[in-house]
Amino acid sequence: MTARRRQVSVLGSTGSIGVSTLDVIARHPDAYAVYGLAANTSVDSLYQQCLAHRPEVAVMMDADAAERLQALLGPDSGTRVLQGEEGLREIVTAEAVDAVMAAIVGAAGLPSTLAAAQAGKTILLANKESLVMGGHLLMQAVRESGATLLPIDSEHNAIFQCMPADRQGRPGLDGVSKVLLTASGGPFREWSYERMRDATPEQACAHPNWSMGRKISVDSASLMNKGLEFIEACWLFDLTPERVEVVVHPQSIIHSMVQYTDGSTLAQLGNPDMRTPIAYGLGWPQRIAAGVAPLDLVAISRLDFEAPDEARFPCLRLARESVATGGTAMAVCNAANEVAVAAFLDGKLGFTAIPQLIENVLERVKVVEPSSLEVVETADSEARLLAAEMLAS
Ligand code: NAD
Ligand code: MG
Repeated sequence: MTARRRQVSVLGSTGSIGVSTLDVIARHPDAYAVYGLAANTSVDSLYQQCLAHRPEVAVMMDADAAERLQALLGPDSGTRVLQGEEGLREIVTAEAVDAVMAAIVGAAGLPSTLAAAQAGKTILLANKESLVMGGHLLMQAVRESGATLLPIDSEHNAIFQCMPADRQGRPGLDGVSKVLLTASGGPFREWSYERMRDATPEQACAHPNWSMGRKISVDSASLMNKGLEFIEACWLFDLTPERVEVVVHPQSIIHSMVQYTDGSTLAQLGNPDMRTPIAYGLGWPQRIAAGVAPLDLVAISRLDFEAPDEARFPCLRLARESVATGGTAMAVCNAANEVAVAAFLDGKLGFTAIPQLIENVLERVKVVEPSSLEVVETADSEARLLAAEMLAS
């Protein structure tokens, strides 16, 4: 008897992580089938993905885009086209779905990630913003439903791989003293503050090691990506902030490390290719081929490390302060950052003004307990509104 194929829904399938996920799935046609695909507005890309992967359901967030996709597919494609949040809910909660790749960018990914957690699915979490914003709610939903949360962010995936397993085979903290979160330092690692003031979106998006979507590329340049990942690590592994240390490692070969009380430090190494953590998430607890070339350590020849410079990169400090404040502060920090990054990409805000805007927003908002999705979403919209007002003034 052949085993049933695992049914996977890919949210944000037309993005950088989505495309890499479908690449790994296509390498294992006997093991995985695509149940649902979802994208924002890129009709042509989603149409091509429907032809290649024959999903049961395809979701476009925009009504007009959904209509155009339906017209392209015609009535007999075998794929149902749905629209908006309702469509997302369908492809994450459907009985047949085993695993959900959460790879929408930004706060927009929170409701669907939370729905997958409440439905007890296996969640492959790339959308770090949902954890930063609603960590309390998401982790609680995972605990209550028995969902499996597998980190796809390369650093957290590395930490997951280096953590000791508890009796359920889940990562535990037995004997762990610290987590070392590595950072590439981004394209501006060696730039002076003055030079960064005039940085353009193209320069910020030219990451030395990784090819990624534009929002996370800007976050990597400002080190807010590391700030968000710092918060993500605290939630995922139940760590206090003192137990997470950021280390700059420009080659991006070590993806993060776990330090133990006996003096051991375990690291996960690999070429910087997101298909490795994606394959780890898809196959877990087994290992499956990812199409990634093995490491050639002799060719790499050296690995460097340095401390992060928080004076030039204040985003890291802002993220740490948000964890210390707690409550909705992390959601506010994330929302203000999303507004600032969009304005920077739009040519309306200077690069070094990104942390200034976030700090101004954090100083002005009232932080509350993140008791429900509604409370978190309200904090998110208030922060966006305030950031937009500050931008306009
Ligand atoms: P991307 O911009 O390349 O793709 C984003 C995807 O989300 C697209 O498919 C887009 O259609 C969809 N989308 C955008 N807005 C949406 C909305 N409002 N509703 C529904 N779908 C929407 O982004 P990416 O680089 O693939 O990153 C995706 C997520 O993964 C981000 O949270 C990012 O931080 C995280 N991540 C990415 C990488 C990477 O290497 N790219 C690494 C680690 C973590
Ligand atoms: Mg990362």
